[in-house]
Amino acid sequence: MSTDTRIDFIREIINEDQKTSKYKGRVHTRFPPEPNGYLHIGHAKSICLNYGIAKAYGGKFNLRFDDTNPETEEQEYVDSIINDVKWLGGDFEDRLFFGSDYFEQMYQWALDLIKKGKAFVCDLNADQIRESRGTLTEPGKESPFRNRTIEENLDLFQRMRKGEFPNGSRTLRAKIDMASRNINLRDPVMYRIVHAHHHRQGDNWPIYPTYDWAHGLEDSIEGITHSICTLEFENHRPLYDWYLDALGVYHPQQIEFARLNLGYTVLSKRKLLQLVEGKHVSGWDDPRMPTVVGYRRRGYTPESIQVFCDKIGVSKKESIIDVSMLEWSIRDDLNKRAQRAMAVLKPLKVILTNYPEGKTEQLQAVNNPEDENAGTRAIPFGRELYIEQDDFREIPPPKYFRLSPGTEVRLRYAYIITCEKVIKDSAGNITELHCTYDPGTKSGSSTAGRKVKSTIHWVSAPDAVSAQVRLYDRLFLKEDPDDVDEGKDFLSNLNPNSLEVLPDCKLEPMLGNANPGDRFQFERMGYFCADTKDSKPGAPVFNRIVTLKDTWAKIEQRGKEK
Ligand code: ATP
Ligand code: MG
Repeated sequence: MSTDTRIDFIREIINEDQKTSKYKGRVHTRFPPEPNGYLHIGHAKSICLNYGIAKAYGGKFNLRFDDTNPETEEQEYVDSIINDVKWLGGDFEDRLFFGSDYFEQMYQWALDLIKKGKAFVCDLNADQIRESRGTLTEPGKESPFRNRTIEENLDLFQRMRKGEFPNGSRTLRAKIDMASRNINLRDPVMYRIVHAHHHRQGDNWPIYPTYDWAHGLEDSIEGITHSICTLEFENHRPLYDWYLDALGVYHPQQIEFARLNLGYTVLSKRKLLQLVEGKHVSGWDDPRMPTVVGYRRRGYTPESIQVFCDKIGVSKKESIIDVSMLEWSIRDDLNKRAQRAMAVLKPLKVILTNYPEGKTEQLQAVNNPEDENAGTRAIPFGRELYIEQDDFREIPPPKYFRLSPGTEVRLRYAYIITCEKVIKDSAGNITELHCTYDPGTKSGSSTAGRKVKSTIHWVSAPDAVSAQVRLYDRLFLKEDPDDVDEGKDFLSNLNPNSLEVLPDCKLEPMLGNANPGDRFQFERMGYFCADTKDSKPGAPVFNRIVTLKDTWAKIEQRGKEK
């Protein structure tokens, strides 16, 4: 993971704190997910940022579940989040914490605030509280319960805790200032009554703390120095500070940065859940999903996601990051380490009419031109081959240099062939090509140097392994999926062609033994990963991670040139 020491505004703050010894040289960050969904690439950004900073300053990094909302949280999400943080390289060592483990301490602190006259039990319901909160231009109205005595507040709050009152009948509120220009400071709710089962606390608690009350306390208990969060919490910082100051406890610094937005992607757990529940995707780990489990299944490496997160940096301004940056990161990573292979996705049979029947040659193919140590492998060559349908045109358009009747191409690692005859079925579909090969043009031999304009990949037909291959396109048709017509929602922008399943691709023999999760570059076709759910050695299923070139950028560019 990153130890990048570029100076962004967060590192500037930390450097200053180091200079003044504000936290005695300590740097301690955390990632605080709510376990109500799977992590997405925005969370990955936050993990890489928080862990990267802890690492760069020789500090510590905690994983802490902000599990204060029993109604939406589940153990399944806890497990997946722990797994994803580890996979991304966020090493929290033995510091896995749960906000709910601090409920008793938070409760005691709430009693302290009551005793200090800084909190009161309010009998207004949620609607009444909302109505009395005022607006940006008008102050709020004080609750009629604001001036209860400390004794009465203590009694009522203790009875709230014992479970004596029904859901929603009372709240504990901080007594701050109903006329504050910051609405968050208008006597905010600290506790709600919720009789619900908690995934860790069981039925222990009939009251639950709000995010604002709980979060700073959790940070304080853990000795966090820099509590990094997204910009929507900027207006909550005065409240974060108010609670810690009112209690007089250890006080971390909250710092906000702009959340990651990715083009053609939704990054909201609520919307991702809608995609899953509406069966628009096959699950949280559908390879088209922007979830960490989705990217992992698609074949992304943790390193490529770390590089992406580093490259986009942190900022105070919202922006939409181009997906091509993420795709660049995985291409760059796999270019260095992915084994090359030949695979024909949309096969067209080729018969080399002058190649002896029954003969097979073993040709040498380079495993990775970027890695001298990767060596070579043998691939079988014979009279019957498959090439891509796209590499042949009966009537070639201008500047088409691949195969067409009477023209020649080089077969990668093999010979130059010439197309002599096109065979069609009764419906006029091309079923095979009859070609001749030039035995004097074997790759690597002294006569091989004869120039032809194009080299194409191929697979020996009798040796080919059949496989399903899945190609993916963006899930949404618009860069901003929330840009919708009236009465519609983001689902109306779903791309109906985001998944293309190719049922019978032809792969070179070595690929038949791929283990789930193995990654390859299929020459000219992109980077592919053997699916971790559906692929088995002997019966491979591959997902395309990414194409070799940024074809989208080109298409968009072409669109603009028109
Ligand atoms: P969502 O908006 O998807 O529901 P969330 O903010 O509610 O996400 P949390 O589990 O509360 O999800 O988030 C955990 C941490 O991840 C928080 O610190 C939050 O600021 C950060 N985070 C969430 N989304 C993004 C994002 N798009 N970019 C950067 N950080 C993010
Ligand atoms: Mg949140």
